[in-house]
Amino acid sequence: MKILFLHGWRSVPGGVKPTYLKTHGHDVINPQLDDDDFDAAVKVAQSAYDHLRPDVVVGSSRGGAVALNLHSGNTPLVLLCPAWRNWGSVSKLKSSSVILHSRDDDVISFADSEELLSGSKLPQGTLIEVGHDHRLADEQSLEVMLWACNVLTSGASLPWLELDSETSPESPGHASATSQEEASYVCDACGEEIVIPLDLTEGTSQAYVEDCPVCCRANTIHVQFDDEGTAQVWAEPEQDYD
Ligand SMILES: [Zn+2]
Repeated sequence: MKILFLHGWRSVPGGVKPTYLKTHGHDVINPQLDDDDFDAAVKVAQSAYDHLRPDVVVGSSRGGAVALNLHSGNTPLVLLCPAWRNWGSVSKLKSSSVILHSRDDDVISFADSEELLSGSKLPQGTLIEVGHDHRLADEQSLEVMLWACNVLTSGASLPWLELDSETSPESPGHASATSQEEASYVCDACGEEIVIPLDLTEGTSQAYVEDCPVCCRANTIHVQFDDEGTAQVWAEPEQDYD
């Protein structure tokens, strides 16, 4: 897919996040945006958008504000801790977009994204809590960023965005970020079907050890999310290495 990546303040093209998207086989255009003149930055991004016609626009921090201020039609936006309060005049996010943000972000407050969400009347699942800081350059954040780009451009009906926020009142915008809340596996030892909760914020590819609640034998549980947000879950007996 073609991705227009808009970098943050004092970042340079070619950082970790656009490089990650590029190494996963996507065409990434990563224009240099003016750090001082926001309008000039928007102008450069707009001309890149008009020229490239990207499938998705990814904007990081100040680049997220640039993305919000673009005329980008129905092209989905993936906003990484967008600094919309600091720059630009747009305070509404269109549907078919997602925000990735860490609660531990000490540069742009997580509350800013919650406000953007409620002001736009978008469902809770639009805001995905991920990462440990403002950079969102850890492996898990990078994976979720790529996953969001894939889902938003797949033409899927974005089932996870339509989930009622009441389905997960304790973790708004968190557990509801998948099309499913739970899935099941069959215990290899006793053959019972075991239901487990799903949590996309643990990454799109997960493996962990859990004792079967029926027979108490340890299984390694594998969870794999596909591009539509659907989880494949399977179990295998935990290996004994002694
Ligand atoms: Zn069992």
